[in-house]
Amino acid sequence: MKKPTHGLATRAIHGKHMHAFKGPVAPPIVQTSTYRFDNSHDAVRYAQGDPEVYVYTRYHNPTVRTAQEHLAEVMGTEQALLTASGMAAISSATLAVTKAGDTIISTPALYGGTYRFFRDILPRHGITVRYCDPHKPDALRTMITPATKLVYFESPTNPTLAVVDIPALVAAVRAAQRRTRRHVTIMCDNTFATSLNQRPIELGVDVVVESATKYLGGHSDIIAGVVAGTAAMVADAHFQMKYYGGCADPFAAYLLLRSMKTFALRVVRQNASAMELASWFERHPRVLRVLYPGLRSHPEHAAATRQMVPGAGYGGMVTIEVPGGVKGAVKVCDALQVAVNAMSLGGAETLVSIPVYSSHVGMSARELKRHGVTPGMVRISVGLEDVADLKADFDRALRRIS
Ligand SMILES: *Cc1c(COP(=O)(O)O)cnc(C)c1O
Repeated sequence: MKKPTHGLATRAIHGKHMHAFKGPVAPPIVQTSTYRFDNSHDAVRYAQGDPEVYVYTRYHNPTVRTAQEHLAEVMGTEQALLTASGMAAISSATLAVTKAGDTIISTPALYGGTYRFFRDILPRHGITVRYCDPHKPDALRTMITPATKLVYFESPTNPTLAVVDIPALVAAVRAAQRRTRRHVTIMCDNTFATSLNQRPIELGVDVVVESATKYLGGHSDIIAGVVAGTAAMVADAHFQMKYYGGCADPFAAYLLLRSMKTFALRVVRQNASAMELASWFERHPRVLRVLYPGLRSHPEHAAATRQMVPGAGYGGMVTIEVPGGVKGAVKVCDALQVAVNAMSLGGAETLVSIPVYSSHVGMSARELKRHGVTPGMVRISVGLEDVADLKADFDRALRRIS
């Protein structure tokens, strides 16, 4: 792992090209599908694996490559791969380390798309996903067999904001590995926390995946994803991406680079506003429960504090449970005037969604129970508005519930 020479905000603004890049300050958008060879010697160089020869944008693109170098710098990894979406990052990275007959062990609380990919797609490729209780590292250790190639988790999780004790999980996997004598890749979806609040690689995780659609993009206007890890891991994920086709678009890469200039500023503010709102919700008479890792009342507050970046924050996602079940949640969401009733997260505008109608739609009562999701939950992605306006908005909406 590289030791960064600058702080995260500086790296998020300058990326890799600090004072070395003599071209335009803003990166050019190389919006092309293909590249002219000067002569067929270029084709030969490409065939021999020269990375400087561009051939086709599904393989490589200069704007996408600039974004990748930028993200590797921010995420503190050897390399990063930019993909068409967070799901393209997750599918490329998981398929890069597994094949038919292999097993993945995952924590059960997952982003809905990932859960369905694990449940409905991977078994068709002969890859089995088994679920472990992240709070029982000993059980995880004994679940690992020679067929286990990947341990996958999110923290904090969607939408319950549960925290996985990352050092404990890593220790359990590495202990099992000594027994089976086979390497197990540990992969973390760090979308909710981002590198500003949590650096899984520093805690012993091998690969980080993120939906860049969320906090990295930050303006609810792009779909993109990132795989960050060693050069070898990123090359393997790139191979999968190249043939499954989930390549990043140059314009999205440009918008992402633009977003990175304000990444630290945005997330610092979202951390602070989320903390303030969560504490306020905790005192609100119409709120039954507040789930936020920054609150002392959160069951894994201590683990969150230990493993998240000291002095940063606990992220911008807060989940509340309101009275009246899903009817209560609907009433609140429909009455909001500042916060927007929309899926997704991480944008400048506060977004709310009802997990049983969005990320966890169509799941059986048993699945919902396993995921800790209840009908009265409202998931809030805290935006950049004045906190006083958000409090007033939620207060008015919550008072609609009888
Ligand atoms: C949104 C999201 C994804 C999927 O990302 P897309 O960009 O929508 O493909 C994966 N994981 C988490 C935690 C997410 O919030």
